[in-house]
This record gives sequence, C-alpha cells and structure tokens, in this order.
Amino acid sequence: MNLSILYRGPLASCNYGCEYCPFAKHQESAAEHAADGVALNRFLEWLETRTTDRLSIFFTPWGEALIRKRYQAAMVRLSHLPQIAKVAIQTNLSGPLGWIDRAERSRLGIWATYHPGETSRSRFLGKCRELDRRSVRYSVGVVGLKEHLAEIEALRHALPAHVYLWVNAYKRQPDYYSQAELEFLETIDPLFPLNNQYHNSFGRACRAGHSVISVDGTGTMRRCHFIPEPIGNLYQSDFAAGLRERPCPNATCGCHIGYVHLDELKLYDVFGTGVLERVPEIQPFRAEGKTL
Ligand code: SF4
Ligand code: SF4
Repeated sequence: MNLSILYRGPLASCNYGCEYCPFAKHQESAAEHAADGVALNRFLEWLETRTTDRLSIFFTPWGEALIRKRYQAAMVRLSHLPQIAKVAIQTNLSGPLGWIDRAERSRLGIWATYHPGETSRSRFLGKCRELDRRSVRYSVGVVGLKEHLAEIEALRHALPAHVYLWVNAYKRQPDYYSQAELEFLETIDPLFPLNNQYHNSFGRACRAGHSVISVDGTGTMRRCHFIPEPIGNLYQSDFAAGLRERPCPNATCGCHIGYVHLDELKLYDVFGTGVLERVPEIQPFRAEGKTL
C-alpha cells in the first residue's frame, strides 16, 4: 500500500498569538497534553506495524506541535522506519531544531510559515539557516496580507535562492488585491495565482480518500481536512476498504493541502516528492522579486 496520511491529533494550541487564528489563545491542560501524547503514540505504533507499506506522513496540527518534545521525537522515530518515505510537519519554526541531528534527514520535510509580528525576520532566517546547515528539505510561506508585502519582499531577497517561498492568498475579502499587488505576488511566488482562487472540485477526481487521507487522534479516517464524513478507522483491520477513488462532493477546494491532490491540476508533476512539504521539484520557482 502506498498511502499519504495527514495526521491531526487533539493538540490545539500555539505559542504564537496571530490575530486571525483561533488556536492562539488556547492553553492546554496537562490532561489534554497527555491525551494528545497517547493518541500520537498510538499512531506511531500503528505505523511501526506497517512494514510492507510505503507511507508518507504529514503532521498538520491545529496549532504548533514542533515545540513539543513528543512531536520532535515522533519525527525522529518515523524518519528511521524503512516504510516511511517522508515525514513532514507544518510549523512556525520557533522551536529548537537539535532533534534533527538524531533523525534520518533525507526523509524529513518541513513546511515553515513565517508570521511577521510574532517573530523577527532575522530570527526566522536564523532557523532557516539551521535547516540548511542540516540539509533538510523545507519550504517557507507567508500569508499574503497587504501589510506584510514589504516584509515578504525582504524575506524573498534574504532567503537562499533554492528555497521556495510560497504566499497564501488572503481570500476572506473578495477582490482584496490590486492588479499591481497581484503581479508583485506572482513575482515572489509563481504559483500564487493558483492559490488565489477556489478551485471547482465538485465531481472532480482527487487523490484524497484513495492514496491520501486525513486521520485524527482516534484513528478516524476522512478523505481530507475539508470533508467531515468519515471513511473508516485506521486502527480497524478493514481500514483499507475505505480507500477508493470517488469524486469530490465539495463545490470548491481552496487550500493548498487540498487542491494539490486534485488530479486535473497536475500538481504532483510540479511538486514530485516534495508534495507534502510544498517544495516544488521543478524550477524556476525562485522569483527575482519586484518592488511595488
Ligand atoms: S503560528 Fe499558526 S497556529 Fe500559531 S497562532 Fe499563528 S497561525 Fe495560529
Ligand atoms: S478536491 Fe479538496 S475538498 Fe475535494 S476531496 Fe480533494 S482535497 Fe478534499
């Protein structure tokens, strides 16, 4: 079996306080942390039993997980399993990175998001240098708020040329960007126009539910993070019966972690083995940048 699993356990807290984020204010109790640890360990133990599969794991927490030792240890532990092709995680990159030295780095993928206002550019870039020094594959991204455009441009110029900088479009407000801003953002991220839309997905073929699934802390499987209907439970012996191709029931798909699996967009041709951590395999994705 060749399967990518997007894992999202009970953890729902963050050390940052981004205004637009619901997890910024939540503090977990010791009992909640313990429950998250139990769920995570169950997932790891299940993965360890799947010795004849080829699995790619992507931690997509509601909040920040990589500041927690249990998630650092999980990255290390999974990276050494031969059945794990990739273990990737979404992170604000604020935590310590020394754990990487204990991991099989060729299997790691980091989806790092820079949040201006929560950390300084120089501090974030220092973390990127630590990843480069350890030869870890990573992408960097920013939410494309208008007040962050100058910071995005500065970040592009400061990042090494080989690092893909993605920009997530701010889509809550229709027609948010001017034409000049759209053109500018495309010079930063050539794939920005693809992100700045909701893709018609109803009835369309998508890998989600077949070769890619979302799993929560109880093992409940869903096609993706955007379709609440369960399709099985990972911890039951017949879980594979839930994996099959079926058309998307949603009208649109607007997040990269969803639409990247839509067949017709052919984004696996762009991202290749970097599809989970959002690192394109084909060039050019290093834009020169342009001043507004
Ligand atoms: S870093 Fe991410 S999870 Fe944390 S508050 Fe900001 S947006 Fe939310
Ligand atoms: S197109 Fe998006 S919403 Fe539909 S199944 Fe795929 S990932 Fe899920």
